[in-house]
Amino acid sequence: MSWERAITIKTERELSIMRQAGRINALALQRVRELVRPGVTTAELDKAAEEVIRSHGAQPAFLGVPGAYPYPATLTVSINDELVHGIPGKRKLKEGDIVSIDCGTIFEGYVGDSAFTMGVGEISKEAQELIEVTEKALAIGIDKLRAGNRVGDVGAAIQAFVEGQGYFLTREYTGHGVGQAMWEGPQVPNYGVAGRGTLLRSGMTIALEPMVLAGTEATWVLPDQWTVASKDGGLTAHFEHTVAVMNGDPVILTQP
Ligand code: MG
Ligand code: MG
Repeated sequence: MSWERAITIKTERELSIMRQAGRINALALQRVRELVRPGVTTAELDKAAEEVIRSHGAQPAFLGVPGAYPYPATLTVSINDELVHGIPGKRKLKEGDIVSIDCGTIFEGYVGDSAFTMGVGEISKEAQELIEVTEKALAIGIDKLRAGNRVGDVGAAIQAFVEGQGYFLTREYTGHGVGQAMWEGPQVPNYGVAGRGTLLRSGMTIALEPMVLAGTEATWVLPDQWTVASKDGGLTAHFEHTVAVMNGDPVILTQP
């Protein structure tokens, strides 16, 4: 899957608004993290995130996103084999599940986009290792988001690490520029060739998001037409931050 969208270079003022959007988004995710436990429904998590976002004068960014039908919630909540875009509802989290939660916030017209995966109660050693590898892959990628590097340097570093650990990366879903739109250029795959692709510059804002699968890279879309899951039923994990290149270096915008 590949697309071309405009790349926007943000001003200091825009970056400061994006930092506020990112902070509100982080507060919503922090609240969700506190609520994750066996027995909680994914709809309860969704409601809590929406309340935090709206209480700060912001709006959920995912609500109404076009697809087979408009996306109906604030969060995507993807459990175990579900990689991304799981729709919140009556399903209850169970001890031993791992859950990936993605949230987007619009504040004063700018988007913050961030995700994490965590365990529900006690989880297996394999699940814990998958989560740790995915989180570290994000950190490795963020470190490459520097002026003068290219998009391929970011993807190549993530790919070398994740595949070196024996895991798989989807080729169908990628990171992306973000700003007034949730998806801007450049597209930032979690794989690539060092030295290739768009040149990174100060003022770019990128939602970097490694999506890692334990079994194979193959995915399928569930009958709800949104949820993306591993084809083999294996576990998956997802971490994401919105990052600005500022004065040449990466600054994470989606933290409290
Ligand atoms: Mg996201
Ligand atoms: Mg994203």
